[in-house]
Amino acid sequence: MLRVAAENPILKSMRPDCHRCSQPIEDYSLAGRLGKQWLHKDCWLAMWREERVRGVDLPVLTSPLAAPPREMSVMVFALMFHFGIALAMIAWVFITQEDDTGTGLAFLVPGVLIPMAGVLGLALSVYRRRNFEVMLHDLGRPGVWSAVPNPERSRD
Ligand SMILES: [Zn+2]
Repeated sequence: MLRVAAENPILKSMRPDCHRCSQPIEDYSLAGRLGKQWLHKDCWLAMWREERVRGVDLPVLTSPLAAPPREMSVMVFALMFHFGIALAMIAWVFITQEDDTGTGLAFLVPGVLIPMAGVLGLALSVYRRRNFEVMLHDLGRPGVWSAVPNPERSRD
């Protein structure tokens, strides 16, 4: 399953771009995060050298696995979808059974918007989880990832 995720062209195109060279991160073992930005290790090294000339010490990259997708958000989005649908049902009862369109519409608006937000949130959570699985696949054993590029690969 992880193999399929890594070779899927859609998932491949969803990979983040490097903040410096704007090329997609093809292999997560050769990249890392600097805050919220993605950087190739080689690009980070080039930036580190530039900053060092100016006397600034650039922070080291953090592992791609440092910020795993949170399971709690999936729960919140599922609840939003669930209770949003309940609001829409209440709206339907007010409009059709009670003949109270005003109250019905007051329930209908959040009853449409909240489930939509829930579905979008769930889709985003699935996307983040899939990306994380691709990262796990690229890194193999997570403990092997190091913040600096491999000396044979780095360019001056
Ligand atoms: Zn780059």
